[in-house]
Amino acid sequence: SSGSIEVVCGPMFSGKTEELIRRLKRAQIARQKVQIFKPAIDNRYHETEVVSHSSLSIEATPVNTSIEILQKVYDSTRVVGIDEVQFFDENISVVVEKLARRGIRVIMAGLDQDYMGKPFGPMANLLAIADSVDKIHAICTVCGAPAPKTFRKNPNNTDQVLVGETDLYEARCRAHADFFGEDQ
Ligand code: ADP
Ligand code: MG
Repeated sequence: SSGSIEVVCGPMFSGKTEELIRRLKRAQIARQKVQIFKPAIDNRYHETEVVSHSSLSIEATPVNTSIEILQKVYDSTRVVGIDEVQFFDENISVVVEKLARRGIRVIMAGLDQDYMGKPFGPMANLLAIADSVDKIHAICTVCGAPAPKTFRKNPNNTDQVLVGETDLYEARCRAHADFFGEDQ
């Protein structure tokens, strides 16, 4: 079969991991060999599982670099899932292209934007090469509108990567994600 590249993106709490797990579990039901990877940096819930905010989970292999994914995919694997893909280095685009060319269905979930609204790490490239992109929304914690943004509650920390949960982040609509005021 010919491979494919699928991306599920959106802000924190939008259901990216839920959707990734849904697609991967269906592939498993169809008896396709599935492997799931996640960046080792994301150890919020579990070292060797991908876990959603609604407590769905699936076994995963933590890796430190994107090349490691290429080295760890078995010949028999039909579907590769990658969560928190925004944390990988720029080589991730080459890696997923190689996997797809080998006939593998690659499904990735990641933040399209950082808390400043800028493309997160390799996501801009991944969205460009993807065969399918699903951009999903959370619910704004202020007004209940569809929320495409991740709001960092403490803007004093300006690192792009600051791993946290509801302690640090909220899903917000555009109007309520603007902590700099109208001018920025
Ligand atoms: P993501 O991977 O995009 O961070 P998850 O798949 O882990 O999202 O979690 C999605 C779940 O998060 C929802 O089904 C819901 O139970 C919960 N949730 C918490 N806060 C919100 C919010 N503000 N909007 C929508 N869902 C939320
Ligand atoms: Mg997630």
